[in-house]
Amino acid sequence: MSFVANRIGNIHESVIRGLTVYANSKGAINLGQGSPDFGPPEELVEAAVEALRSGFNQYVPTWGLPELREAISKKTERFYGFLPNPDTEVTVTCGVTEAVISALLAVVGTGDNVLVLEPAHENYYAGIIFAGANAVWLPLKPPNFELNASELRKAFVEQDLKAVIFNTPHNPSGRVFSREELQLIADLCQEFDVIAISDEIYEHMVFDGLKHIPIATLDGMADRTITITGLSKTYSVTGWRIGYAIAQPELTTALRKVHDFTTICAPSPLQKAAVTAINFKQSYYDWLEHHYLARRERIIPMLNSLGFKAPSPSGAYYTMADFSQIADALGLSYNDSDFSYWMIKHLGIGTIPAGSFYKSDPNLGLAHVRFAFPKKDETLDRVEERFEKLKKMLNI
Ligand code: PLP
Repeated sequence: MSFVANRIGNIHESVIRGLTVYANSKGAINLGQGSPDFGPPEELVEAAVEALRSGFNQYVPTWGLPELREAISKKTERFYGFLPNPDTEVTVTCGVTEAVISALLAVVGTGDNVLVLEPAHENYYAGIIFAGANAVWLPLKPPNFELNASELRKAFVEQDLKAVIFNTPHNPSGRVFSREELQLIADLCQEFDVIAISDEIYEHMVFDGLKHIPIATLDGMADRTITITGLSKTYSVTGWRIGYAIAQPELTTALRKVHDFTTICAPSPLQKAAVTAINFKQSYYDWLEHHYLARRERIIPMLNSLGFKAPSPSGAYYTMADFSQIADALGLSYNDSDFSYWMIKHLGIGTIPAGSFYKSDPNLGLAHVRFAFPKKDETLDRVEERFEKLKKMLNI
C-alpha cells in the first residue's frame, strides 16, 4: 500500500523543472524556464537591503503589509481605473502560484468542475487536484490559439462549472485576449453563475499597440472575478515570491483563510521592497516594453530563419515554435519532448515541450516547443552561435 494520498498521484513533477535540471546538467543555455537571466532594477535590490536593515524581519499582517496593499490598490486604479479596497479586497501572497492555489481552494470544492483554457500553466491543474475538483479542458490550438465561441459555450452549457481559470497575456502562446474574447467569457460567467480566476502576471508585457484588459473591468465581472498578478515577471524578481489577488470582500475573505493557514504571510522585507516596485513611474513600464520588444525582434527572426515556424507574440515573453520542418529535414519525429531533449543534447539549448501545457491531450503540442526570451543580449548572442551547428546540419 502506498503512503501517498491518491490525489498526489495525479500530479507529476513539473516538466519545466525536470527539463531545467537536465539542461543545467548539460551546460545548456536554458530558453525553457521563463525566468530572467538579468537582475531587477538596482533600486529594488537597495530597497530590499534597506528593508532587512530597518527591521522588516518578522511577520506582517497575513494579508499583506498595509503600505503595500495601499500601493497595489492605487496602481490598479492608475492602470485599470478601479480602486480595490486595500483592507478588504487585496491580499498579498507568495507569488501568483500561491494566489492561484488559494483562489482555487477558496472557491471550488470536492467534485466541482473548473474550466481551464489550455495550453495552461501546470499549477492550475495542481490547484484543482488539491481542491478535490475536476478539470474540464478547453484547448486553444496552434497556430492561432484563438478562443472558439461555440466550443466555449458548449463547455458552459454541458459542464455545470463553478469556475473558469485562464491567463492573459498568455503563456505559452504570447496571445493577448481581445475585449471580444473576454466579453464571451464574461457573458457566460454571468449567464451560468461562474467565477473567473484570471492570471494576469504578464500584464505589462503587451506589444503591437494592443492593451491588456483585466476581465474584472468588464460589466458585471468585478464581483465574480479573482484577479491575480505579481512581481515576478514585471520587475524580474521571480525568486522574491510576491504576488497578489484582488477580489470582492466575500471572495477575499475566503482566499485569505487559505493563505493565512498555508503561509501566514509573504516574505516581510520583500513586501516592504515591493512598495518601491509598485510605485515605479510610467517610464519603467515603457522601458520594460521596449526591452522585451527588442528581445522579441531578435529571437523570432533567428528562429524562423532556421526553419522553425515561430509566431511573433503580442504579449508575455514566449513563442510556441513549430519545429516540423526541421524534424523533416533531420529525420526526427514530431515528438515535442524528444525534440526538447535532442536540442539540449545536440545544440546545448533548452526549450519546453508544448505538450506539457496540454493536459487534455498532450498530442496537441505535437511538433511544438516553447522558447522563453527574458534573456540578456549576451545570452542571445550565445544562442545564435550555438544555432550555427543546426545551420550546418540543415545545410543553410
Ligand atoms: N502564472 C503564469 C502564467 C506563469 O507563466 C508563471 C511563471 O512562469 C506563474 C504563474 C508563476 O508566477 P509566480 O512566480 O508569481 O508564482
